[in-house]
Amino acid sequence: MSWALKKIFGCMSLVESIGGWDDVQKNGMFSINLVNKKLCGVHSKVPWRRVVCNNSATPKSLFILWLVIWKRVPTLNRLIKWNIVTSDNCLLCSSSSESVEHLFFECGFTFQIWQKVLNILQFTRSPTGFQAELDWIVKCSKKNGGRHKLLVMFFAETMYSIWLNRNDKLCNQHRKTLIELFGDIQLKVAG
Ligand SMILES: [Zn+2]
Repeated sequence: MSWALKKIFGCMSLVESIGGWDDVQKNGMFSINLVNKKLCGVHSKVPWRRVVCNNSATPKSLFILWLVIWKRVPTLNRLIKWNIVTSDNCLLCSSSSESVEHLFFECGFTFQIWQKVLNILQFTRSPTGFQAELDWIVKCSKKNGGRHKLLVMFFAETMYSIWLNRNDKLCNQHRKTLIELFGDIQLKVAG
């Protein structure tokens, strides 16, 4: 991973805190599996540990989830401060500055995605914002049963799919519809 990419992803200090880049490489390649393993060891006291470490979602999704929780994903409100972009307008709704809080789930588009997930799992609540959803997911992650296990998986896969969709819009001017994206998330959870 190039120096610029490390800086953009805000990973440097985080990776250093878990032992440095040498510890998260396998055969000379950056390994997300190794990062996840390390993170779950280091962050044993954080309240959201179970959300990341007791989660059957894919390693890539868990890594993005972890970066989102630490607010280390390169949202446009951060990139504009580094003069990398000229606008921080949300790529999915165009009605607000793109921050972690906006992207997950204040944004009208992602709000609807997460609402669909909650509906399909028969949770009768409406998303009220990133921190409130995370706090609720932390509580749910302590409960047993298939529905709560699925919920934490859906949480990671939804974050990841939203992030990929947003990146596709940023790089390729393409974005999926609500139905397409929700279908993707369901497929990822079904594995
Ligand atoms: Zn938006």
